[in-house]
Amino acid sequence: MDLSQEGLTPSWHEWRDAPAADFAVIGDPIAHSLSPRMHQAAYAALGLDHRYVALRVAPGEVAAALAHLAKLGYQGVNVTVPHKGEAFETMRSIEEPARRTQAVNTVRLPDLVGTNTDGAGFLDTIEDLRLPRKFAAVILGAGGSARSVVLALAENGHDVRLYNRTKARAIELVETLGVPIEVLDHPDPTGAHLIVNATSAGLHGAELPIAWSGARSDAVAYDLVYGPQQSPFLAAAQRHGLRVVDGLPLLAAQGARSLEWWLGVTAPRQAMLECLRWVQ
Ligand code: NDP
Repeated sequence: MDLSQEGLTPSWHEWRDAPAADFAVIGDPIAHSLSPRMHQAAYAALGLDHRYVALRVAPGEVAAALAHLAKLGYQGVNVTVPHKGEAFETMRSIEEPARRTQAVNTVRLPDLVGTNTDGAGFLDTIEDLRLPRKFAAVILGAGGSARSVVLALAENGHDVRLYNRTKARAIELVETLGVPIEVLDHPDPTGAHLIVNATSAGLHGAELPIAWSGARSDAVAYDLVYGPQQSPFLAAAQRHGLRVVDGLPLLAAQGARSLEWWLGVTAPRQAMLECLRWVQ
């Protein structure tokens, strides 16, 4: 479904024109963010009178934007592409998952405390996939989100292998996180119960050179990217009979964890996920 159809375009603002609100997501581009829809659905379910908006912040302007939003009385901000690293540099205080991944996706204002809910949110989303208690995973990508996923899986004792187009970045990721995982020369899914695409290849319509015929028939292919069209990665996995998961459950889970961190209440996870499914 085209989100720009009447009534489905989430509103957004330049950060300098930020309206009176309580929470926001910042990124660039930000026009198609589903976070306002999702958080507003959560506030409605909780009976809260909060407002959540999407704001465009250009690279290099994260510190200025956060200072401005704090002055306007905003209580918190989600951070998305490409600002998670810049937000990390801007914080006064950092909580543990963000310290190790060096990427902040959730900020509390006005005190500039940063955390990262991507890894824990990812673990939430694999709970219902009926994977073995300890499983083998292949992660594709070495950007900020791959770092969160690799750390979350490795810390939980799963067998993680990592592939990235630029191998040096994968090696650097492993060294930065200090986790004992193997770096692959090819995106080889052989033996993996879970294959996670944490690259942005699908956003550009690019195919990853994965030999799907070597994958386990009961494996799950999981793409962090979401959108109205199935990604080339998930489409190829489905053609080979694998179960597939897109990035919407992760969007909902990381958002739910942000909301819980800010407000200290249990997030209405079903309402947050359902409002996203309805968009699709
Ligand atoms: P980064 O920009 O930090 O990393 C991008 C990664 O993609 C790099 O590893 C890069 O490889 C790889 N890549 C890009 N293009 C190609 C290509 N054509 N072929 C192979 N590899 C490619 O992005 P993030 O880690 O922040 O995010 C990755 C994706 O995950 C994004 O699309 C983002 O929207 C999505 N995401 C979704 C979330 C959700 O809530 N569902 C949460 C977080 C992220 P190289 O190093 O070689 O350049």
